[in-house]
Amino acid sequence: MKMDEKQISEIVKNVLSKMSGESGANAESKRYKGVFDTMSEALEAVNKAYKQYRSYSIEQREKIISKIRELILAEAEQLAKLGVSETGMGRVSDKIIKHQLVARKTPGTEDLSPSVMTGDNGLTLIEMAPYGVIGSITPSTNPSETVLCNSIGMLAGGNAVVFNPHPHACETANYAVDLVNRAIEAAGGPENLVVSVYKPTMDTSNEMMKSPIVRMLVATGGPGVVRTLLSSGKKAIGAGAGNPPVIVDETADIRKAAKDIVAGASFDNNLPCIAEKECFAIDSIADELIAGMQEAGAYLIKDAQIDALVKLCLVEKEGKYSINKKWVGKDASKFLKELGIKSDARLIICETEASHPFVQVEMMMPILAVVRVPNIDDAIEKAVAAEHGNRHSAHIHSKNIDTLTRFAREVETTIFVKNAPSYAGIGAGGEGYTTFTIAGPTGEGLTAAHSFTRQRRCVMVDGLHIV
Ligand code: NAD
Repeated sequence: MKMDEKQISEIVKNVLSKMSGESGANAESKRYKGVFDTMSEALEAVNKAYKQYRSYSIEQREKIISKIRELILAEAEQLAKLGVSETGMGRVSDKIIKHQLVARKTPGTEDLSPSVMTGDNGLTLIEMAPYGVIGSITPSTNPSETVLCNSIGMLAGGNAVVFNPHPHACETANYAVDLVNRAIEAAGGPENLVVSVYKPTMDTSNEMMKSPIVRMLVATGGPGVVRTLLSSGKKAIGAGAGNPPVIVDETADIRKAAKDIVAGASFDNNLPCIAEKECFAIDSIADELIAGMQEAGAYLIKDAQIDALVKLCLVEKEGKYSINKKWVGKDASKFLKELGIKSDARLIICETEASHPFVQVEMMMPILAVVRVPNIDDAIEKAVAAEHGNRHSAHIHSKNIDTLTRFAREVETTIFVKNAPSYAGIGAGGEGYTTFTIAGPTGEGLTAAHSFTRQRRCVMVDGLHIV
């Protein structure tokens, strides 16, 4: 399905009318494959589809996945434009790259590796079986990327999926659900193997979580949704918030570090949960690093400008700061305009103390605080504190092996990138597969098909053992 600018803006108009109170059924919303008016209808349909899918071979699963990859690549631009226009967050060019990454580097059925034990007593086989219908809650920051990446991994594992997308990004997420269903249909698969609802709410989310049809839950989002799913009583995977620090020491290639940090921290306007969100620089190289960042496209603000930006994008209550959601994922130029500065810089940088809210709060805005530290001990201590025990992501630029090893050990994050932009950690310019569901709290790490399977053991005594 090809969409032009006019069609995209019609979809966005529909979203706005739905948000202003019209129901999904009444609004002139586009009808999408696999998307239902109620959660009960969605659950009934996906349950039926799953029963059919149980008899599909691995080869048939793979045929479906290939078609999904093909459609994502063909529609990456529409998906990116739709995401930016519906949510008002991120950058189209970067979102295109994210979709291409999902299409090319999300593992399929090759990720499932059975194991075997043989010996005097025969042969025991351990296979990776589907959970069944998986309930997946997705964020506003990567709305279609998460639906598409999770769909590939979950279908590869032999499962069906019901999504409850973020209400502010549901048109984009549901367009992705439609894409997956079109791919399944083209590959000869069952209809409604991946479903969603037009108007996701907390009620639809609760209904999904409690339904006996749903055997596993996956939460991709902030701490609230992860906590809720983990207390559901069901098997759950939690992919939660981060606040990734990056350290630069005096042994690093400073100009390269500056360029890499600007590239990572400004990617999709800092929406990715893995993106560099605060920087700790050893005093002796801090000036050179900041100059390098300016050369690489960052805009340095100072003093009163920093205070004005705090007022603009953070909300203070009893000394505690939280984000002003209106500013999440906006272009750096928009913040600068509010400060009376005309610039098309991709990233804003400023020097602050480690206790500053720009360091401590996960902002998801293209604003990076740089904290000067006297030595590596101080850098590691402050970076670990700023990560808040999320165990999500942390990054470093250094050529000192002892420092690289020590920071990795102390910060204990799921992703740790050395001498590269943060996105190398999800396979963009770094080795390894990609995911948009990074499960730190529950420990699956970078999720893939194997994460969405359960192990089953099949034992044959005194037979099939051939030596
Ligand atoms: P969010 O937490 O506001 O929303 C995520 C999803 O959870 C949405 O669908 C929302 O409707 C739902 N939700 C929120 N609170 C809930 C609750 N109490 N019960 C049930 N559902 C609830 O997140 P967001 O603003 O869309 O995304 C940004 C956050 O997600 C950041 O903290 C980011 O770090 C995190 N994130 C993590 C990963 C990861 O892989 N670890 C990936 C993307 C985003």
